[in-house]
Amino acid sequence: MGAQRGQVLVTGGAGFIGSHFVRRLLKADDVAGVTVLDALTYAGNIKNLSDAVLSPKLSFVPGNILDKQLVDDLVQAHSSVVHFAAESHVDRSLSNAGAFLETNVLGTQNLLDAARRYGVSKFVHISTDEVYGPLESGRADEDATLRPTVPYAASKAASDMVALSHFHTFGVPVCVTRSSNNYGPRQHAEKIIPLFVTRLLKGHALTLHGQGQHVRNWLHVEDNCQAVELVLRDGVPGEVYNIGGGTDLTSKDLTAVLLRIFGADWDCVQYIPDRTSNDIRYAMDWSKVAALGFRPARDLEEGLAETVDWYRSNPDRWAPLPRKEMQHA
Ligand code: NAD
Repeated sequence: MGAQRGQVLVTGGAGFIGSHFVRRLLKADDVAGVTVLDALTYAGNIKNLSDAVLSPKLSFVPGNILDKQLVDDLVQAHSSVVHFAAESHVDRSLSNAGAFLETNVLGTQNLLDAARRYGVSKFVHISTDEVYGPLESGRADEDATLRPTVPYAASKAASDMVALSHFHTFGVPVCVTRSSNNYGPRQHAEKIIPLFVTRLLKGHALTLHGQGQHVRNWLHVEDNCQAVELVLRDGVPGEVYNIGGGTDLTSKDLTAVLLRIFGADWDCVQYIPDRTSNDIRYAMDWSKVAALGFRPARDLEEGLAETVDWYRSNPDRWAPLPRKEMQHA
């Protein structure tokens, strides 16, 4: 039997993955209450929580994880913390790395300081497979060397190290999760799948970097949330858990699936020069989280078709976005 989770503080709960996770926690009998702390940056949206805000178990606090006093007050009132809040888009980190270091490293530090002071029973720090950097072959397990190549991944790797140092030095019961690329409803339209879906819905061209040869593992957001919940419940403090088990696809293969769903052909696809730094392949061994009972359940083609339906049914969530917010593939 894992720890009772009582009152859970979820940072970044108005973002893509956090909002799915909050819905999941609200259904759990041993969770008495969930508080979302979210700064509602361009990436966050209270509408992501829509029906969930009606739950008497949910409180929403608009605020920044860089606000030490607010973080202190909130952590004090909760038994565990699940920390999703981050600057999350690689392309933005190429032009504004400082914002990534502030939020992802210093914001995490604030939360850990408070967790240490008030003795939380679990602190789950949410990270990414991008910290391992590119792998030509093989799969990174949790002990693999971190070789981040872009400022986003470097800021996440730094925050992982800071989080784990608080376990080793102060005994804060930190677990780190590193998941592969998530997809599903309610993702900001700057990310590749919603960007392509919304362009196809508008009848616009798609742009593929290089030859579309970059390999990513695509995991349904609900599968990731299943694993994060297992780590919150049964993860061993001080441990890192890779979360994979989605489908490995090149960006060209991913494009082919989306074109198939739309009944579109390759005429609408343009190739553009690759970014200076665009990791060729990420791949992880996720047997450790499987040993906690994680079983990814979502089929990629079905999950993508449902995701397309969501964007088709909710144009108000992406059609008004300024062009500059949707230009990054
Ligand atoms: P997102 O950009 O959709 O959401 C981030 C949320 O954090 C937003 O609601 C935003 O308002 C909030 N936020 C940002 N800065 C904040 C601050 N200073 N204070 C308080 N709130 C702040 O991101 P996502 O895709 O849901 O990713 C969530 C987490 O998962 C991130 O830590 C990301 O690094 C990690 N991750 C994401 C993926 C993916 O495929 N999306 C994969 C692996 C790991």
